[in-house]
Amino acid sequence: MSSGVAAILEAADFAARKHRSQRRKDPEQTPYINHPIGVARILSHEAGIDDIAVLQTALLHDTVEDTDTELSEIEDRFGKEVRLLVEEVTDDKLLSKDERKHLQIEHAAHSSHGAKLVKLADKLYNLRDLKRTTPEGWTEQRVQEYFVWASKVVQSLKGTNAAMEDSLHQLFLERGVTT
Ligand code: NDP
Ligand code: ZN
Repeated sequence: MSSGVAAILEAADFAARKHRSQRRKDPEQTPYINHPIGVARILSHEAGIDDIAVLQTALLHDTVEDTDTELSEIEDRFGKEVRLLVEEVTDDKLLSKDERKHLQIEHAAHSSHGAKLVKLADKLYNLRDLKRTTPEGWTEQRVQEYFVWASKVVQSLKGTNAAMEDSLHQLFLERGVTT
């Protein structure tokens, strides 16, 4: 087996164990791991990305933000490059949710290319999920506000990957969100 395949499976297994008790916000309460796997799949199948560290980061991108995982643990297991990428896509949990959302817009443009790719794929997956079903307790207005916020983040990531940006613009267009 190539070392790249083994490295990706290691990240998938790590993320699956870390997210094992979590569910998505959709009414079906889909296992959370479907999301990081789907984000990595968007990068490989739709965006043409074969960079192993970027694909591993996609699999690991919510472990530090949403589980007890420490960045040092990521570095020990996956090395410095993946640690730095995961750090770039992790919101500061000490800040309020509104502050985090605002900083995502501000930080996007200054991110590394690898982090920008993961951010785009993450938004694309989440917007498709919202298009598929509305999370429990969300109003249409809240869904619309999420699309508007996501469009601002994506605007800051302009010029990163044409395939993902085209798909995102199509979703914004359908929602009447101008970009
Ligand atoms: P978010 O609005 O941040 O929830 C969206 C996040 O949930 C996504 O980014 C995704 O993050 C994750 N997620 C899990 N399941 C799904 C799914 N099925 N579809 C899409 N995304 C999913 O929720 P918060 O609880 O963090 O809310 C905070 C923000 O929402 C605040 O800014 C607040 O102002 C606003 N708000 C608005 C309300 C309104 O009625 N307009 C009411 C309450 C809050 P990941 O990629 O990390 O999984
Ligand atoms: Zn995510």
